[in-house]
Amino acid sequence: MEKAAVPNKGERKLCVFCRIANGETQTQLLHEDDEVVAFRDIHPQAPVHILIVPKAHIVTLAELGDHTAIIGRMAGVANTLAEREGLSRTGYRLAINCGPEGGQTVWHLHMHLLGGRQLSGRLG
Ligand code: AMP
Ligand code: ZN
Repeated sequence: MEKAAVPNKGERKLCVFCRIANGETQTQLLHEDDEVVAFRDIHPQAPVHILIVPKAHIVTLAELGDHTAIIGRMAGVANTLAEREGLSRTGYRLAINCGPEGGQTVWHLHMHLLGGRQLSGRLG
């Protein structure tokens, strides 16, 4: 049984990040390759706030299974975008929220790239 705290879990056709990755929305992609897309967060929490998203509908980090290589692909895209956004010298943060208590609200794996100011030291 699905927990109420995890709405639409696993339902691709209702998944906003699947729709963005499939080009079904107006969202401007900053990056696209065969496995990964990236676009700006709709509610930015820093001057640069980009989401790096696998095209595959992987629900959470905990459900990654054997697909660990995708995290390396996502980190590589994040580094390229950080360079492009001028963050490489000053620094930036990559974060993946996993599950309700990890702060995940969209049920499709994604990595946050945050930077452009001194970020808070608080992580939890
Ligand atoms: P998380 O809380 O880690 O699951 O992060 C989900 C992020 O997705 C939040 O920062 C939202 O602002 C962002 N978000 C939700 N819907 C969209 C959307 N349609 N386009 C861009 N970002 C979105
Ligand atoms: Zn999805």
